[in-house]
Amino acid sequence: MSVITNDYIRVNQHSRPGSKLTVVNKIIMHYTANNGGTARNHWGYFNNLTDRYASAHIFVDDIEALCIIPQNEVAYQANDIQKYVNGSPYRGVTALLSNANFKAIGIEMCLDKKGNITAATFNRTVDVAAELCKIHKLKAADIVRHYDVTGKICPAPWVNNSAEFTRFKNAVALKLSGNPKKGKQWLYAKRNLYILKGAGDWTSALAFTLPQHSAVQVDWDNLKNGWFEINYQGKKGYYSASVANYFDEKNPNVTYICQDDLLFRADPKWGGPPSFRRKKGETINAVEKLSNGWLKCTLGTQYGYLPDSTTYLKKK
Ligand SMILES: [Zn+2]
Repeated sequence: MSVITNDYIRVNQHSRPGSKLTVVNKIIMHYTANNGGTARNHWGYFNNLTDRYASAHIFVDDIEALCIIPQNEVAYQANDIQKYVNGSPYRGVTALLSNANFKAIGIEMCLDKKGNITAATFNRTVDVAAELCKIHKLKAADIVRHYDVTGKICPAPWVNNSAEFTRFKNAVALKLSGNPKKGKQWLYAKRNLYILKGAGDWTSALAFTLPQHSAVQVDWDNLKNGWFEINYQGKKGYYSASVANYFDEKNPNVTYICQDDLLFRADPKWGGPPSFRRKKGETINAVEKLSNGWLKCTLGTQYGYLPDSTTYLKKK
């Protein structure tokens, strides 16, 4: 079911020229900069606009998402000139050259009376953007800000704090990836992952490094900004819940018991440098059997190799 209500304004040279889009390459995000103005208020404003050229396709507030211009028509949303670079108007998104108004759909987020994008508006806008991505075969990465296109400070809350824009795109990506899962699940790091201190913010500080192949229990019912809380050996941080990209769902480790005091090699061959030692009776996890018959084993963030032979290692 669509989350978007269609109620088109009349064709009007100032807001709905009636021309067709040539393609839909991007979704452009805006804010109304009009505290307390609802989606319906903006329908009325743009239906009657006579003194300037402006518009966008869809207006989202706390109660609805209103599409005022058909998704295959031009809206006057992002061809403004904010600055010049080498004598030409600044255009930051090459896929939208030469005139973004012919190649993108625009979403305006309404503000509450204090000028905030409320959680209800944010969440409804996630639903709208995900629906548009599906219809127009776009990805979350195809969502841009008006700011990215022309340099206008719009949506100002997402220009002043770009982590909010990242959080939005992550939420859309999660929505597009299918039904988010429920409950707790064990996952295994596909590679060393830099677990961060801020949820949903790739620019936040490092909390700790999660070694490749290590297991973490995540909670799908407790995502923060679309990220998992990661608890590992008494340390805590956050990482994107994009499972296919960063985590294995199946345990890649096979546990072996050392049959003697063993020195694992740093390379899968004899004669190279040493890696780590394990004592007789201790366990070690192998993550891969190589084509030459050697096992790739892990200890913390280190790798060590030995031949897959019961002289050295037996499966637990
Ligand atoms: Zn804008």
